[in-house]
Amino acid sequence: ATPVGLLAGSGRGAQLGILIRGPQVLEDTRAVNTLVLDKTGTVTTGRLAVDAVDPAAGWNANEVLTLAGAVESASEHPIAQAIAASARSAAGSVSTLPRVEHFRSAPGGGVVGIVGQRTVVVGRSSWLRENGVAAPDSLRELFAAREEAGATAVWVAVDGHVAGFVSLRDTLKPGSAAAVGRLKALGLRPVLLTGDNPAVAARVAAEVGIAPSDVFAGVSPEGKVDAVRRLQSQGSRVAMAGDGVNDAAALAQADLGIAMGSGTDVAREAADLTVMADDLGQVALAIELSRSTLRVIK
Ligand code: ADP
Ligand code: MG
Repeated sequence: ATPVGLLAGSGRGAQLGILIRGPQVLEDTRAVNTLVLDKTGTVTTGRLAVDAVDPAAGWNANEVLTLAGAVESASEHPIAQAIAASARSAAGSVSTLPRVEHFRSAPGGGVVGIVGQRTVVVGRSSWLRENGVAAPDSLRELFAAREEAGATAVWVAVDGHVAGFVSLRDTLKPGSAAAVGRLKALGLRPVLLTGDNPAVAARVAAEVGIAPSDVFAGVSPEGKVDAVRRLQSQGSRVAMAGDGVNDAAALAQADLGIAMGSGTDVAREAADLTVMADDLGQVALAIELSRSTLRVIK
């Protein structure tokens, strides 16, 4: 169906930048009592910055960053964009990264590709294992320490061996904490659902006011669907807000799927409602208004 827009109650005539799939979406919006939030790109800006590159023995940080950046340049994930940008600037602003061939990505896992003659894998531990690479004990402790300190860390492996890892940091969107407060005032239960590590998830949840018991971290894209289904089977009417390819299936499973405007096409296509302003405040507004006056425009 062609999306339609929402207008604030008659008289104001203000277009809200909220697109819905059809008039029935208003009813679904009114009925939700639980809002599942993706973290990266939904609660946080998703514009990550590389904090540190820790090389394994025999590697230097720049080599690790360049190889990782080359593969990540083919991915649209926020982690990928940050690593590629950092690799480009480390190499000097005019230079381009080495070409990647046979690129493959696993949403919620990582990427793999061939750079020069070398196979480069970047991603979480489980993605490394899927590619037959074991993280060395020597680096695992430092990796965990970086995560404990609030970073999102991803492994870089070259030809079957870990070459190092990259730590990144994200920041909250300015409106996220206030929006979660409004959602709670509306009687909604906010839940945080992320593929990222538990330490980062806990920190973000605390900053926006989500209860520790409503934080689910390290969740795969299929795990996100299961989490939504579980809440539904407990009797909740679930809205889910997300932006990534990794969120699409969960957005479709939710009673109301909400896509952030700056997110991926895949997320927008799976969603019932899209907020163009890319701010959780717009999600709160949509729910507030669905309970008062709203008009649909075609
Ligand atoms: P979120 O749920 O926070 O949006 P994702 O499900 O997209 O996060 O990703 C979960 C984890 O998978 C990331 O924290 C990272 O470890 C890994 N990952 C996903 N995509 C990539 C990528 N392009 N490069 C490296 N790691 C990735
Ligand atoms: Mg996301």
